[in-house]
Parts: sequence; structure tokens; C-alpha cells
Amino acid sequence: MSKKKLNSALRHLSESAFDFLERSVKEIKTHPKYSVIHFATAVELILKARLMREHWTLVVERTSDVSVEDFMSGKAKTVTQVDAIKRLKNACGENIPQDAVTQFGKIAAHRNRMIHFFHEAGKKKADDALTEEIVKELCLCWFHLERLLSDWDDQFDDFKDEIATVTWRMKRLRAYLQVAFDRMKPKIDAAKKVGTAFKTCSGCGFDAAAVTEVSDVLFEQQCTVCGLGEAYIEISCPNECGEILHIDGHNVSGMACEKCGYEVTPEDVADALDTEFSDPSEFEPQINCAQCSSLGSVVQHGETFVCTECLYSEDSAPQCDWCNERQIGGGDLEFSYHTGCEFCEGQAGWTKDD
Ligand SMILES: [Zn+2]
Ligand SMILES: [Zn+2]
Ligand SMILES: [Zn+2]
Ligand SMILES: [Zn+2]
Repeated sequence: MSKKKLNSALRHLSESAFDFLERSVKEIKTHPKYSVIHFATAVELILKARLMREHWTLVVERTSDVSVEDFMSGKAKTVTQVDAIKRLKNACGENIPQDAVTQFGKIAAHRNRMIHFFHEAGKKKADDALTEEIVKELCLCWFHLERLLSDWDDQFDDFKDEIATVTWRMKRLRAYLQVAFDRMKPKIDAAKKVGTAFKTCSGCGFDAAAVTEVSDVLFEQQCTVCGLGEAYIEISCPNECGEILHIDGHNVSGMACEKCGYEVTPEDVADALDTEFSDPSEFEPQINCAQCSSLGSVVQHGETFVCTECLYSEDSAPQCDWCNERQIGGGDLEFSYHTGCEFCEGQAGWTKDD
């Protein structure tokens, strides 16, 4: 099988993904059912296209039984979305944030419900409430998908135009949430009067995200329209140029100061957030982040623990009973001696191969 053929198959797969995306966004009012189905399919295809760039066998469910000819003729069963995400992490070193995994899982489940139980027949146009719900869901999915596509811009370099088109269409789609925003407006105004600040939401674009000050450095915002939660920090430029930098969870390291051009490092972020004095002579287990799969990236910030890579935070950082490291974003680790944490396989993994 020539490399050329595989390349053209990959191209088709990616083209198909963007085609589904565009259709999904176009069809929202006339075919809400297909809007969900097509968006969910697009997400799956983009994950598969990224896998296929690594190697075609990664897209196949059971690699050992499949020839490249079977694969090319579409006879081979392909991986589930859950496994695709695992393989992206293990074989390609690509970490999909836990929030994105959850959101992609939701739309996949919604697609299945739509396929089995939702009949459009008899409904000429979707009612407004349904449209609103679906647009919210697509906005949240797109928020995560757009971040992945920007992380993978070298992978989808040939699809800049398609990505720009979908980005533009997604922005226009937000107009369907105007009603939801108008409905929230009196509550937002009332909250503003008593001192709550509101910021623009990255998911739906409305100035509807209520800000909570976790500390004078760390902030969280929760959108009252689409429900997206985001964290950000505000620190003065480590280069001491006087600028205040606003850093969100997607561009924590490598973010450049607009005034002096200084590029923020994870160490700068750790310095700004770490409130604990640690004695270097004392051994402390490192704290990992299961949300973004980073090792040792978490520092204690007052009463909370914050990841300096993705700004995810939690009030406690439980310790794994098997590897003794601590983590946030991966549950309470209750049975970790047996099952391990995000970063180890526990006793079960240890004894599996004996
Ligand atoms: Zn929003
Ligand atoms: Zn600066
Ligand atoms: Zn993290
Ligand atoms: Zn562990």
C-alpha cells in the first residue's frame, strides 16, 4: 500500500470531519436531530484523523487482525471514541483535558439518543427551547474542539479555511442564545449592582460569565447562559514592565506580555500561585493534575490546589495509596491501592503480567 494512498485517505477523513461540522451548524434550525448527530460525528472523525496521522493502525479497533487493505476498503472496525482518546494520550502523547473528554462524551451519548428515539417527522421546525439547548451544547463542544485544533494546527494545516469557516458559523450560531441572555439579563444586572463582575464567556460570547475571586491572583468565571466554567489568573508581568497579564487555562505557559514581549513560564505561574514554603530538605510527594495529565504541576494556593499548566483547581489533593503521589482532578482515590491513580496502575496493574 503506497504512502500516497494512505495520505489521501487521511485527507478524506479530515475533509469529511469538517464537512460534518459545517452541516451541523447549518442545520440547527431545520434539522436539530442531524445537527447533533453530525457534530458528534465530526468530533469523532477529528480525533481519528489525529490518530491516523500517527499511524493508521491506531484507528482500527483490533490492530492484530487487520491488513491495510481491509482498512482502506472500510472493512475494519474502528476504535470507539473513548479508546481513541486513550490512544491519543498513550501513543501520541496528546492530552485531551478531562472537561473536553466529558463534553465530547455527552454529545456522543446525545447522538445515540437522537438516532434511536428522536423523530423529526411532523416537526417542521425545531421549537426554540430545543434549538437553544442544542446550540449551548454545540458551543461547549466547539470551545474544546477549537482549542484542540489550535494545539494541533500543524496537523490540520491544510484545513485553515475550513476551520475559519466553522469558527465564523459558530459565532453566528450564538445569536440563537440571545433569548437565553435576555432572560438572564435582569439577574445579571442585579448581581452587578451588588458587586459581582461579569466577563465575556469564551463558549457563547455573551458578557454573562460571573466572576468569583478565589484570591487576588486566581479567578473563576461561570457562564450564566451556556454554563461554561473557566479559570484565569491575573499577575503583573514577571519582567516587571508594569503590565497586568490576564492568563487563561489554555495559554498558561508561552503567553507573551503585550507590552514587553516577555514569555511567561510555568515557573512564573508557580511563583505567583504557590503560597506554601517548602523545606527542600524535607521530602514531599509531588502533586499531579489528572485534568491535564501533568506531573508535579500542582501548587498549593491558600486553601486550594491549583495546576500551573491548566489552572484547574480543587480544595483537596488526595494521595494515591499505591504510588504515594498526590493528585487533583481525578476523584477521591478511594480504591487507589488496587486501581491506582491517573498516573499509575495500582496493584492490579503491577500483578497483571505475572
Ligand atoms: Zn457562555
Ligand atoms: Zn511585560
Ligand atoms: Zn492541569
Ligand atoms: Zn498512583
